[in-house]
Amino acid sequence: MSVGEGLAAGYDAARARFLAAADAAGAVVQSHPFPDRGPSGEELAVDVAWLGPADAADVIGIVSGTHGVEGFAGSLCQSRWLEAHGRALLPDGTAVLLVHAINPYGFAWVRRVNEDNVDLNRNFADFDDPPANAGYDELAEALDPPSLSPEALAVADTALLEYAGAHGMDGVQAAVSGGQYHHPTGIFYGGSGPVRSHRLLRELVRTRLFDARRVVLLDLHTGLGERAEVELISHAVPGTPDYERAVAWWGDRVASNTAGDSVSADLAGQWMAAAEAWLAPIEVTSIALEWGTVDSITVLQALRADNWLHHHGNPTGPEADPIKADLRAAFAPDDPEWVAAVYACFTTVLDQTFAALA
Ligand SMILES: [Zn+2]
Repeated sequence: MSVGEGLAAGYDAARARFLAAADAAGAVVQSHPFPDRGPSGEELAVDVAWLGPADAADVIGIVSGTHGVEGFAGSLCQSRWLEAHGRALLPDGTAVLLVHAINPYGFAWVRRVNEDNVDLNRNFADFDDPPANAGYDELAEALDPPSLSPEALAVADTALLEYAGAHGMDGVQAAVSGGQYHHPTGIFYGGSGPVRSHRLLRELVRTRLFDARRVVLLDLHTGLGERAEVELISHAVPGTPDYERAVAWWGDRVASNTAGDSVSADLAGQWMAAAEAWLAPIEVTSIALEWGTVDSITVLQALRADNWLHHHGNPTGPEADPIKADLRAAFAPDDPEWVAAVYACFTTVLDQTFAALA
């Protein structure tokens, strides 16, 4: 809780802190074990804490670890908020549902993706007619090279630079990160069907949120934007009631990734859009909190190397250490000032949410 606090050493430590904080705050906790194990053989689970009245009219769902490694920051926000405030701060008729490490495999293995190499926030697509991404198809080999040798990377980077020359950096970002459904060993792969974390999210929405009058969803992400700055990313279109409500609640840090004014590309298969559809006609106000870390080229290089490690290398071999260190630095900087800025923003957004619901 000190100003100089860093992030947890690993998934296990983050999980232990969350469970202790939830317990101390008087939350009702349910754990959903996953069959896979972490790199040290640790048990993996999604831990869900409900704070507040069981029949609350307003429920705020706060999710960490949708993108595995991004859960280091999200988990810290959840745990530290529980430790600092917990039940004492909740307005009448409001409950908070904290979902810790919805992608526990990615968190534990320091990956963005899950146990199936799937990007969970691209996995809520129509798998009978998955979205096309011709740009990714063109770049697939440059993003999943067979080797990380200087020669192989030079070939790959030349292809990326040529694509950028023809389509601009926004075009590269859309092709790389918008989501793709044809390259199972590539990055930003949306999968071929609902993965375990997808199915659990759907169950949690059905069992925890269907009786609410109003639902708020806050999904905690890192890795895009200016360092330590936040963007509140909405998938709603500006001008629609959902978007204008988000701006009224949270101000001009709200940006739309469907309108092209966000640090994020327009994405296929986002989970909060699916949750809104499942919950209709309940009013749902959802936002992804995205904190910047390092520049986007460094992020992409770290993701490409980690992808190589898991498909062409040995994730438990000696070559893993520098690759994992780079990936962690790209998504979970061990920088107390960065952590302090992230947490301060998180509590501001949460306070704004309580005020808007009051
Ligand atoms: Zn993310």
